[in-house]
Amino acid sequence: MPIKVLDKETVSQIAAGEVVERPASVVKELVENSLDAGATQISVEIKGGGVSRIQVIDNGSGIPQGEAELAFNRYATSKIASPSDLESILSLGFRGEALSSIAAVAEVELVTGVAGEAAGTYLGLKDGVIINRGRKGRSAGTTVTVKNLFRRIPARLKFLKSLATENSHIANIVSRYALAFPEVRFILSIDGRVTLRTPGSGELIDSITQVYGLEVAQNMLEIKALGWEGGVVASSLLVTGMVGSPKVGRSSRDYLSLFVNRRWVSHRRLAWAVEEAYHGLLMVGKHPVAIINLSLPPQEVDVNVHPTKTEVRFRDEQATFSAVQKAVRQTLIELTPVPRIEEVATPREVSSVPRLMLWTSIGGDVNLGLPPAATPQTPAQSLPVLRVMGQLLSSYIIAEGPDGLYLIDQHAAHERILFEQIEDQRSRREMEIQMLLEPVAFEVSPRQGESLKAQYEKLAEFGFSIEPFGEGTFLVRAVPALLAGRDWPGMMRELLDSGGGEGWEERMVISMACHSAVRAGQVLTSDEMREMVRKLEQTALPHTCPHGRPTMIHLSLGQLAREFGRS
Ligand code: ADP
Ligand code: MG
Repeated sequence: MPIKVLDKETVSQIAAGEVVERPASVVKELVENSLDAGATQISVEIKGGGVSRIQVIDNGSGIPQGEAELAFNRYATSKIASPSDLESILSLGFRGEALSSIAAVAEVELVTGVAGEAAGTYLGLKDGVIINRGRKGRSAGTTVTVKNLFRRIPARLKFLKSLATENSHIANIVSRYALAFPEVRFILSIDGRVTLRTPGSGELIDSITQVYGLEVAQNMLEIKALGWEGGVVASSLLVTGMVGSPKVGRSSRDYLSLFVNRRWVSHRRLAWAVEEAYHGLLMVGKHPVAIINLSLPPQEVDVNVHPTKTEVRFRDEQATFSAVQKAVRQTLIELTPVPRIEEVATPREVSSVPRLMLWTSIGGDVNLGLPPAATPQTPAQSLPVLRVMGQLLSSYIIAEGPDGLYLIDQHAAHERILFEQIEDQRSRREMEIQMLLEPVAFEVSPRQGESLKAQYEKLAEFGFSIEPFGEGTFLVRAVPALLAGRDWPGMMRELLDSGGGEGWEERMVISMACHSAVRAGQVLTSDEMREMVRKLEQTALPHTCPHGRPTMIHLSLGQLAREFGRS
């Protein structure tokens, strides 16, 4: 075929295909328009998986009569006017593509009213062309009705999944926006049945209750507003929202919502940052419930990456990443108590069984399965001076403090000590290095090899001296002193498999600490235990290991007295 410029209809079909992938994309675009129009109430009605009918009704500003037809032109928008406006986007829409794209693949009716205009405007479109126009009574706001989606595009129609699947995608979109905009009342009705209704109270927890139910809502922790360096809100980035306590872990990743300047985005690395903050707190295979709102100046983020606008790029991705991770981690650590025995056995129910459960629950579910109201919250604080009394099961150190008994997980405690030690050595650029007597050949897969090459310099900072040695092999001449004699090749492989990218250095430190720490089951001498406890006392966060697991549990004098019926 000779080269030709495509005709208008083909171009609009191609463009529409990018914006309108499935019925849920239509819902997303229409709801975004309603939100941009300042609506405080948005109702979404769906029939037949959204293929038969989608109607979105809002009480926003409406479209002035003279502009309504223009709104269906491709690249017609009221939200930006010049390229420089792309730098400061705070609206959800800005590409002027949605209405024209939807009209290209469905029948559309628009009724819109603006405060002050005598009557509303009505438009009917078919195949992207206006076939009906007129006036209709309408209070301020807009109603868009979309019918017979993809009827003329059998290929797309065939590609859609079952009605139930399409409905669930739609419910997902509406739920996310309900979480992002708690001040807006959302109603979603599917085939005549209301499936979601939020009160529009402005309280995130109310939206969470409606979207995820009471059980989840009762276990949400509020992120304390956190700026760049923690605590200070003066910075340009603000992290707010709520995170689920580890005990409401879910089997799917879908319970994590990320909003950037109130836009729902998907961002693998940020999602990973959140998951990582839960590391060691959630059971393996479980994922967190979290609603994370990032507010930052629009110049700091590029939303013009893809027509669906769900992808964003940050100018300083590393800073964004660590701010999110820090915010989530601190919220979890500060609000996750040091477990106490009273959470397991109340005096009335004392029997040997719950106590046994306690001894084995170390390192598992930190909340020990009680509702947060009943959970005493012990904020992270420094440790009192402890006197070592012995070792239990070659895994736990028994110690006495001014207020009772402490059981310390030797591996977790050592990890905490080493973690802070490595961070300290690194910040002073004084990593202790151990030259190997003979260079060791280190074999890697092609992918690990690439990742290794990309990380030479960073690895050198940690004390690794590595050079290429033929295909798939590297020579290691020196390793960090802490890892000498340990399974550093295993640690390296694990790290290389986890890829580079955000948080790599922290992962490296955690991994080094973990691989050099004493294991459970290792017998320690009294001196070693004393040394360990003394060093733990000096750490900044003695109560948790770098993965977030508790390092100890505490049985206070008061609890002891109660347990023995002395008080
Ligand atoms: P964009 O949202 O990127 O500007 P759209 O095609 O979605 O592009 O919408 C085009 C224009 O139509 C918007 O810029 C806005 O002015 C107007 N519009 C669309 N939907 C609504 C609505 N629900 N309320 C008020 N104005 C709307
Ligand atoms: Mg839009």
